[in-house]
Amino acid sequence: MKKDNKFSLYGLPEKVEHCKKCLMTNQKPFSVNEMEHGAQGKKLGLFMHNDGVCAACHYAQKKDKEIDWKDRENKLVKLLDKYRKNDGSYDCVVPGSGGKDSAMASHILKYRYGMNPLTVTFSPLLYTEEGLKNMNNWIDIGGFDNILFKANGKVAKILAKEAFDNILHPLQPFKFGLKVFPIKIAIKFNIDLVFYGEPRSEYGSEDAKKVEKPGFGEEFYSIKKDIGETYIAGIPVNKLQSKYKLSKNDLEPYTAVNHEMIKDKKIVVDNLGWYIKWDPQSAYYYAVENCGFEADTRRTEGTYGKYSGIDDKFDALHYFCHYIKFGIGRTRFDASQEIRNGHIDREEAILLAKKFEGEFPKRYFKEYLSYLNITEKYFWNKIDQFRSPHLWTLQNGEWVLHQEIEELKK
Ligand SMILES: [Zn+2]
Repeated sequence: MKKDNKFSLYGLPEKVEHCKKCLMTNQKPFSVNEMEHGAQGKKLGLFMHNDGVCAACHYAQKKDKEIDWKDRENKLVKLLDKYRKNDGSYDCVVPGSGGKDSAMASHILKYRYGMNPLTVTFSPLLYTEEGLKNMNNWIDIGGFDNILFKANGKVAKILAKEAFDNILHPLQPFKFGLKVFPIKIAIKFNIDLVFYGEPRSEYGSEDAKKVEKPGFGEEFYSIKKDIGETYIAGIPVNKLQSKYKLSKNDLEPYTAVNHEMIKDKKIVVDNLGWYIKWDPQSAYYYAVENCGFEADTRRTEGTYGKYSGIDDKFDALHYFCHYIKFGIGRTRFDASQEIRNGHIDREEAILLAKKFEGEFPKRYFKEYLSYLNITEKYFWNKIDQFRSPHLWTLQNGEWVLHQEIEELKK
């Protein structure tokens, strides 16, 4: 029973807790297996420890002081020795779009550890010019074989629109593709190892116990149910199919790997960042040096950076939607991570957030509207529907985050 009208739309804690060290709050939802969840799915937020410090900051302290990186590297060497193939075939898949993290991961695996990676790209909805250039440089300058997959654009548009309407998350179906397609390729090529770059623990996206162990569980990409019983874009797949007359094959790129297909295999899905100390800034420099990676010449909308998540025109809208739903925009993500990695302090982060947090992504706005086939009015109505009452209040005709930290209150 709700006592007042300040309830959380997403089943997140109604009281916002701000981390003492970074700019994150307990409203940052945990990664969930979204195939199991509809629009009303309950969510767990970023865990705040008793000392008022978030799980991501706790992990960062560990990364600096407690983790024995030499031991982790030994573990990596052992793992790679087990999977390395010398018969000319591929021995690992590295998923990526040509961003700094996948570039660095694939390069280290191939050129430092003598692995034979097949890089796999699930194409962004709308590649930016810089993103496409970086993708080509990754392959041509970095030196890799690559499979670039572009899913049926007609279906991709339908799914992005549904995901925007139902969960204000136009990239959600694409994220499914990112997760499952590389695994399907691994199966096809008889490869038992899949390696991502950046660790999820960087963002406190997992519970503390999972951070202690390497690898992703099968629940990350596989499902035991029939696809008809799952959700894509926040609606049940069978409803989605009948609404748009979509066949099972139309949804194949987004469909989780069937458990039956892998139950006799021992596919290991891992991230290099668990074994090697990962830092976005170093990944950037590494990718520039070895894979011809280039930062954007313009500042990324919604934040102050120029080199993270610049492949898809939709990225900026994705973070804006995140800001609307959870009160956490892209500046908060970037600045918090930079605090944790010791590049800036909290005061600087607050100054940056004052300037850029929640900035509206206007650069590609017309392209979003046209891709989603909606009007500007429709767009704003939708946005306002997703402002959770426990976060947002309308004051003198302007939306404000009423549980914001003092320094950032407008
Ligand atoms: Zn924190």
